[in-house]
Amino acid sequence: MSLRTRHESPRTRHEFAKDPTSRQPHMHIIDISVTLRDGLAAWPGEDYWRLDKTLRIAEGGAANVSRITMGLHCGTHVDAPWHFGLSDQTAESLPLDRFITPARVVDCTGVAQAITRADLAGRIDGTAAVLLKTANSGTLESLASFNRQFVHLDPSAATYLVESGVHTVGVDYLSVEGFFAEGAPVHRILLAARVAIIEGLDLSAVEPGDYTLVAAPLKIAGGDGAPCRAVLIGQTASGRVGL
Ligand SMILES: [Zn+2]
Repeated sequence: MSLRTRHESPRTRHEFAKDPTSRQPHMHIIDISVTLRDGLAAWPGEDYWRLDKTLRIAEGGAANVSRITMGLHCGTHVDAPWHFGLSDQTAESLPLDRFITPARVVDCTGVAQAITRADLAGRIDGTAAVLLKTANSGTLESLASFNRQFVHLDPSAATYLVESGVHTVGVDYLSVEGFFAEGAPVHRILLAARVAIIEGLDLSAVEPGDYTLVAAPLKIAGGDGAPCRAVLIGQTASGRVGL
C-alpha cells in the first residue's frame, strides 16, 4: 500500500493498526529492508546468503533450528569505517543515534546513473539522515541478478552530504559507490567524516518525505559491516511521529 493512499484517505485512530491486537494504533511502520533468501543478488565474489537446517521437527528433531552463512555486506546492511580502513571502528561500536534518527527520503528516481551535488542541492537542508530513492529500489527484492550499472553517488554528492552536516546516508543498492569506481572515494569521503552508511534498502513503497528511521546494525564484534532490519516510521493522523 502506498503512503499516498493512506494520506489521501480519511483516517481514524485505528487505521494504522494492521494487527487488531496491536496496542499501538498510531504506529505507521514501513519495512524498507530486503528479504534475506536464496537468489538475492550479492556483490560478485564477495557476499552470499545461505540458510541450512540444524534440526527439523518433521525429521524427528525437538524443534526447528537453522543456521546461516552470509557476507556482512549481504542484503540491507551498514558499513563500518574499518571496512575501508579509515579507523578501527567496527560494527559493535557504531553510534546508534546514526541509525535511529529523523530521516528524509529524497526522490532521485530520475537520475540515470550517478547522483551528483546538483541532484541534492537545496533538498537536504535541516535533516540528519538522507535516504536516496532511485530506480534501484525493488530490484533486489525482485531477485533480479546483480546490476553493475546501479545508480550510485559520485564524489561531489558525497562531499555535499558531508558539508550539509548529514550524519547518515542510505542507498537502495549494495554500494554507495559505482561498481567501476577506483579507490572507493565515496566511501572514504563519507566514512572519514563519520557519516554512517546504510546500503541495500528498498524504498520502492515509500513516498519522498520526512520520517523516523530505525535501522540498528547487529552488534558484531570486529564487523566491517553488519546486517540491519530497516524501517521507517511515518506521520500519524495526529501529526506526530508514531514512535
Ligand atoms: Zn557494505
